[in-house]
Amino acid sequence: MLGKETPVQTPLQKLYKIVIVSLACFCLMQPLGADESSGGIVDSQSFLQRSLAPAGPPAGKYASAVETLLGQMTLKEKIGQMTQLEIGMVTDGMGPDIRINAEKLRKAVTEYGVGSILNVNDQALTTQRWQETVRAIQEEAKKTRLKIPVLYGIDTIHGANYIAEATLFPQPLAMAATWNPELMLRGSQIAAAETRKAGIPWAFSPVLDAGRQPLWARLWETFGEDTYLATVMGVATVRGYEGSDLTSPVNVAASLKHYVGYSYPTTGGDRSPALIPEITLREYFLPTFAAALKAGAHTVMVNSGEVNGIPGHVNGFLLKHVLWEEMGLQGFVVSDWGDIKDLVRRHHIAATEKEATRLAVLAGIDMSMVPSDYSFSDLLLQLVQEGKVPVSRIDEAVRRILTVKYQLGLFDDPLRGINSNTVIGSKESRQASLEAARESITLLKNENSTLPLSKTARVLVTGPNADSLIPLNNGWSYTWQGDRASAYPKDHATILKAIQEKIGAGLVTYVPGTTTDHEMDIAKAADAAAKADAVVVCIGEWAYAETPGNIVDISLPDAQLALVHKLEETKKPVILVLTEGRPRLIRTIVDPAKAIVMAYNPSNEGGVAIADVLFGDVNPSGKLPITYPRWPNHLFTYDHKVFAGEDEEKGKLQGEPQFEFGFGLSYTSFAYSDLHVSPAIGSGNGTIHVDVTVKNTGAREGKEVVELYLNEKDASVTPPLKRLKRFAKISLKPGESRRVAFQLTPDDLSFIGADNKRVVEPGTFDVAIGGLKQSFEWK
Ligand code: BGC
Repeated sequence: MLGKETPVQTPLQKLYKIVIVSLACFCLMQPLGADESSGGIVDSQSFLQRSLAPAGPPAGKYASAVETLLGQMTLKEKIGQMTQLEIGMVTDGMGPDIRINAEKLRKAVTEYGVGSILNVNDQALTTQRWQETVRAIQEEAKKTRLKIPVLYGIDTIHGANYIAEATLFPQPLAMAATWNPELMLRGSQIAAAETRKAGIPWAFSPVLDAGRQPLWARLWETFGEDTYLATVMGVATVRGYEGSDLTSPVNVAASLKHYVGYSYPTTGGDRSPALIPEITLREYFLPTFAAALKAGAHTVMVNSGEVNGIPGHVNGFLLKHVLWEEMGLQGFVVSDWGDIKDLVRRHHIAATEKEATRLAVLAGIDMSMVPSDYSFSDLLLQLVQEGKVPVSRIDEAVRRILTVKYQLGLFDDPLRGINSNTVIGSKESRQASLEAARESITLLKNENSTLPLSKTARVLVTGPNADSLIPLNNGWSYTWQGDRASAYPKDHATILKAIQEKIGAGLVTYVPGTTTDHEMDIAKAADAAAKADAVVVCIGEWAYAETPGNIVDISLPDAQLALVHKLEETKKPVILVLTEGRPRLIRTIVDPAKAIVMAYNPSNEGGVAIADVLFGDVNPSGKLPITYPRWPNHLFTYDHKVFAGEDEEKGKLQGEPQFEFGFGLSYTSFAYSDLHVSPAIGSGNGTIHVDVTVKNTGAREGKEVVELYLNEKDASVTPPLKRLKRFAKISLKPGESRRVAFQLTPDDLSFIGADNKRVVEPGTFDVAIGGLKQSFEWK
């Protein structure tokens, strides 16, 4: 016979081949159980289960030391512990020029015995200046009668953002878009170690407000609109900050904020009123806080706004009943900035600051972020002397504050951390930030595989956000507003620089086109586009934080829309790169754009990460942690109730969102099959097992987020269309498939009933994963 010879195999060779083939099949079909997590595969439930062990040492260890100390304290010393002042109360000068003022320091620490100091004045300090400053404060504390250390606190929002040269990570909304809590854990560990290296043991983060109001200027500080995703990311942050031992030189105490309902103002304006029924608070807004407390978080910061007409700072029901009694906070509650004064100035719930102080302390505020005078200490002293606030309430607050100071090891070494081996902004830490930025980037459109671009293409880079680190970072970046270019380190690439580095400056033309709000040289950009093979338009928002970030129109500013329209006239492929803290409407430029990349605020390594995605060195795997709206007057979350006029079968809305929560494309494709839900009928404490096969059907290795949604068909409280209950991020090679397994417990089937209590009702539940659906009954 002509042709190839069939090789003859010995029995041993045959056996060997069978073993190899079986092993290969086993590897390609390896099941991912809920308790497995390895090799870049992260399952939300096993992550949560592993993360619910609070950091030691337990509060009880210090109970007798705290009581002894409390017994020695004067009333004035106790009230001092409840007082938190800003750094300008003990220093002169601003930013890098601040210097301790010995007289101010003596007054604050020795005369008033303040328990805590916070913040920067204007701009991030070097590690050395931080250490000198905190050392001076703690040395003053050592001169006091009882030598109680001062608890320094700072806004560590996306890394140690108030320490010069610190590693900055993608902002929390971008971290949520990774759907990878391991990245959040790692980032928070680095942030904690760098914060403590400065001598600071307390971080005012994570923001656990549910990001369900897209206008809100602090949306990007949240983990997005979904309660479960935010819970997983919030728990990851707490575990990263607090570790297993709070006394260690690389851990800090977390402060969960802003308890609760701050993120849902009716108008979208910061610190403006919210109306949230208790049933909704319990269903969507409280669970993130409850889980983070279970994970051990030691402090909570209160909502500056009001919910249902009651300011957060006087809401005894939410503070005492829900936070202390139901959720079992073990640490203490701190007010937000000047919020006792705001009870008079803004909320008009008290006529005088003295009355506001009484209301707030009795409602459960343990420490007041005053922050720039001694009014709180003076007024509270009078209130106790007049019998208007019982000493027992003061003792309760101080006991909690002292316990956290003991738990942080401050009585042993108030400067713990400054001698640690932590290197601020190390290469490894920056790499961790880069990896997070890469995994956060979310590909929203890619018509005809426009992306990735060829590295030999001639590219026009344009748009207001192309050549600046400011929109890559947003607020809480070296300065509060994050908008001072000179404060940024020089060795990080903007989007433009990263593209130039990747394909060579000779292939790249840059024309800004517009500022955020104003047209500049749109005609010039269009001319340049005509000569290019592809146009990368970097649009979105500039930096802002808190109230200065308020907007009254969620649309992308007209100037930027005009730039894109003009570029589209050239018929060159237009790629939109969005760097923005909230979803600005882009409806009119979506169809003509060939590709859309959502980058959120990916921070200092974001320019490189964006270039990696644009040119195919990284396969995007981010998924939206928010619903991207299409219409200005149709803002809603994915887990809304059925709207009249909606196609109930398909769940499609008349005014569909631009892009759905959980959506994000890849350069490869994934197919879902064999969804299996068992048993078909469950009850009692039973578990529902869900399995699905996910296969990489494309030509590139890629990561996929497997999202499990649940919907109860009929319930005594109108059920939302669907709720996210589990997710897993997996990595698959071309042709590889994996069976992914999840377990649902009765808790996952529960909702808050009309009596505001959690309930599981019998009924039919739909499980939806990757376009597949299966039902089960619950008896
Ligand atoms: C913000 C808090 C922050 C505090 C201290 C307030 O204005 O609302 O989130 O922690 O300032 O900087």
